[in-house]
Amino acid sequence: MQALYFLKPGQFEWREVAMPRLAADTDAIVRPLAVARCDLDLYIATGVVPLPGPFAFGHESVAEVIDAGPAAGVVPGQRVVVPFQLSCGRCDACRRGHTGSCDAFPPLANYGLGGGPRTDYGGALSGAMHVRFADHMLVPLPDGVDPVAVASASDNIADGWRAVGPQLAERPGASVLVIGGLAQSVGIYAAGCAVAAGAGRVLYLDDDEGRRARAAALGAEAAPLGLRDGRRASELFDIVVEAAGTAEALAFAIRSAGRNGVLTSVAIHLSPLTPVPLTEAYYRGLTLVTARVDSRAHLPAVLGCIACGKLHPEHVTHRVAGFADAADAMADPGPKIVFVP
Ligand SMILES: [Zn+2]
Ligand SMILES: [Zn+2]
Repeated sequence: MQALYFLKPGQFEWREVAMPRLAADTDAIVRPLAVARCDLDLYIATGVVPLPGPFAFGHESVAEVIDAGPAAGVVPGQRVVVPFQLSCGRCDACRRGHTGSCDAFPPLANYGLGGGPRTDYGGALSGAMHVRFADHMLVPLPDGVDPVAVASASDNIADGWRAVGPQLAERPGASVLVIGGLAQSVGIYAAGCAVAAGAGRVLYLDDDEGRRARAAALGAEAAPLGLRDGRRASELFDIVVEAAGTAEALAFAIRSAGRNGVLTSVAIHLSPLTPVPLTEAYYRGLTLVTARVDSRAHLPAVLGCIACGKLHPEHVTHRVAGFADAADAMADPGPKIVFVP
């Protein structure tokens, strides 16, 4: 089969690789039907985030099961969402919901993001993927949901959800502020998830007009960020999401949180040291969360929200392209591309 390999910034190559085969009763082999470009993929492809190639690329996918072991919990023909992080569902970390740091795999065990010869688990831009612990990993695609619409659920939609969904369950009707930017689609998804989860007010701030329009399409109020105009938003918010990835935006986010607010920073801050106004955070009783999403743990809630018609992630997708065009399209600056075979 063919698989797309990232070699170095600006350079990809389709390679002929062996078809994966079942190795355990709980394994499944799946064929990707729709693969979304993760926000991080753009930065790997363009060298903003340096990752050494070569490795198989693509990690957000909806797929069809084509082979399954007797204890895989799925059958050929079934459509499933494949979380980007590999996890077992059985260890202490998984049982606590930390499926992004499963004890059964080395740290950062992901599809499509490399990690070395023994930890390249294959990529989604390929003919097939090998899924271990499929009985836990694979989440059935709800009936009537378009694989192209939810291809990003594996990672970025789940990432947006985790920053607002559980928080709103604890504080129904709370106000939500999202500061968009670097993690382009995650910020927009977070705004849409907040609307879908019944937030009182959802304000999306971003200097990019295109992203603002997509957040508005998901039901959020959208306005320019205009960081220079002030040290914080014009009012304070219960729940804040920082997807901008800059120190200025993080400080703005902290100062825009109300008493006992919760701020989740979903962007990867690339600078090794980020100044944080921690004293201000302390006095407002702020809870500051920063970590990779535990995507598998949030998928049922995310897919439930989409299946019942409250969240429309397709409004974030700006382009649908064929697998054959993936290498050329990877540096497209827009917020979300979905590739189909
Ligand atoms: Zn990702
Ligand atoms: Zn585990």
